[in-house]
Amino acid sequence: MLSTVEREAVCNVCHDGKAVYYRVYSGERLCRTCFVKTFEKRVIRTIGRYKLFKPDDKIAVAVSGGKDSLSLLYVLKKIEKRFPRAGLLAVTVDEGIEGYRDEALEYVEEVTRMLEVPLYKTSFEEVFGKTLSEIVASRQFRLSGLAACSVCGPLRRRAINIAAKRAGATVIATAHTLDDVVQTYFLKTFRGELGTSEIGLRLEGPFIPRVAPFRLTPEREVVFYAYLHNIPFQSQVCPNAADSMRNMIRRFLAEFDERYPGSLFAALRSFEKTATLGKKIQMVCSSCGEPSSRELCRVCELTQTLIH
Ligand code: SF4
Repeated sequence: MLSTVEREAVCNVCHDGKAVYYRVYSGERLCRTCFVKTFEKRVIRTIGRYKLFKPDDKIAVAVSGGKDSLSLLYVLKKIEKRFPRAGLLAVTVDEGIEGYRDEALEYVEEVTRMLEVPLYKTSFEEVFGKTLSEIVASRQFRLSGLAACSVCGPLRRRAINIAAKRAGATVIATAHTLDDVVQTYFLKTFRGELGTSEIGLRLEGPFIPRVAPFRLTPEREVVFYAYLHNIPFQSQVCPNAADSMRNMIRRFLAEFDERYPGSLFAALRSFEKTATLGKKIQMVCSSCGEPSSRELCRVCELTQTLIH
């Protein structure tokens, strides 16, 4: 994370430790201790600023086995100690992706065991009657022209909701980083859906709210946090990862932020001014009653056309 010259530098927060991380958008060169401290402080600030949790929440962390979700579980476990009335658990979904999910699930089991966090599991097979591999092998799927991720994403969100409800959770924490949140705002802009719902902020309603404590944390810093804590995570890429619209936006934003550091923070501020922040808007699906940004939610559309 640091060039040779930067590696010689001393942390410019404590003026003592050797710098190991250069935060280019702020000019900070941080030693390990200051990086971890400022990283965790930012998560606490994010939770406070957006009022993501209540003191007696039972928080379900959605974990996939990737670096972001396991780092989130790790940091929330640390923070939870300050809130004795709060509870923490993990939920995970086996989509049924042949040759891919098993390794990730092993990491999920290992980290939850290590942190002593109860784990609740579910699967596409249990909830929808079919694995993702079976769905994408079907004739209906081939005719639909959809990418596997367009099916997987909404179904996984629904399965997580079901598992969290079953576990008695009052809120779901997802590991969406600053990068993910800004990508989603752009996606919603291009789909004409900006303003229909908030992203990663607590909206109360007849469902479990979903919040993103990494909303103000760049993905790059989550990777470094996972590395510093030796958090094991899956690095294998999903065989279905397609050249989706999100991937195009991800590449563009990553290049833009690399050239103009701080752009993601600026974009988030702009979206927060124009989106629904604070207006508590949340539509629900007319068929299943789950949160939705349209009349019929994506899960109902998919289950009606691809699964039944
Ligand atoms: Fe699902 Fe796509 Fe992610 Fe694979 S890459 S796990 S198909 S959303």
